[in-house]
Amino acid sequence: MIIAVASGKGGTGKTTVAVSLAISAADQSSAKPLLLDCDVEEPNSGLFLDIDYTSGRETGVLVPEVDLDKCTYCGRCAEVCVWNAIAVAGEKVLVFRDLCHGCGSCGLVCPEGAISEITHVTGRIEGGTDGSIDFARGVLNVGQAMPVPVIASLLDEYLPESGNSTVIIDSSPGTSCPVVEAVSRSEYVILVTEPTPFGLHDLKAAVDVVVSQLNIPAGVIINRDGIGNNEVEKYCLTANLPVLAKIPMDRRIAEMLSEGIPLLSGLPEYREVFLDILAIVRKEVMK
Ligand code: SF4
Ligand code: SF4
Repeated sequence: MIIAVASGKGGTGKTTVAVSLAISAADQSSAKPLLLDCDVEEPNSGLFLDIDYTSGRETGVLVPEVDLDKCTYCGRCAEVCVWNAIAVAGEKVLVFRDLCHGCGSCGLVCPEGAISEITHVTGRIEGGTDGSIDFARGVLNVGQAMPVPVIASLLDEYLPESGNSTVIIDSSPGTSCPVVEAVSRSEYVILVTEPTPFGLHDLKAAVDVVVSQLNIPAGVIINRDGIGNNEVEKYCLTANLPVLAKIPMDRRIAEMLSEGIPLLSGLPEYREVFLDILAIVRKEVMK
């Protein structure tokens, strides 16, 4: 079972939910769950677990390298590149690595076979365990603008090995390409929001992407319940989205999280809440 945890906006408690689900899944089964931190610009879910990292490798984008001895400066590579990542100027071919999406089109159209591919390193994939939860994360290098290839590498490497384990994916916030990459291979998406006008606005955007565009079943967790109004609940009712849980606004949670203490370690009474969520999601996925 692959569950992604996402949110239309940052700061809603998405990582708290992802870590709590992983801890609950570990409690529930002898098979170790796998927590994948796909929030590669800020991968902080491992901070709540005592991870012993045992593997790590660089990852990146395959960018073109031009053999000028073969190149005739015909310009076809530049014409095909929709990202303007390669340009031909006189007898020069310029490759803008940070713009390149590694699609390979330029190499395919080059009539002289002058283009090969090399890896432009943009981040790292790191994996380990805390003993009861297997964990891996992508880390985008500082200054790099493209998180998607790092996320794709992380999922490519770890999802095929996950077998029947419960996999929890901690997505980045928002609704842009990194989120689509992180959630698109999941069987269920949990959208974390808060009961405020901002929360509702961004929840609608997330529902549009996850449910309407990607057609993945989804449910909602309302975090910091009590701080705003009931418009989120009304929307969920009309949109036929199950509210999986409501986590009240509780100062103790904020204090614990600020010290890196997982919710379920500091307030074990929430374990039942997350076990129930896992049970509901499992039932949905099995349908
Ligand atoms: S398509 Fe090939 S031959 Fe033509 S300019 Fe690009 S690299 Fe050179
Ligand atoms: S690999 Fe794709 S994105 Fe990169 S330079 Fe070639 S055509 Fe452009």
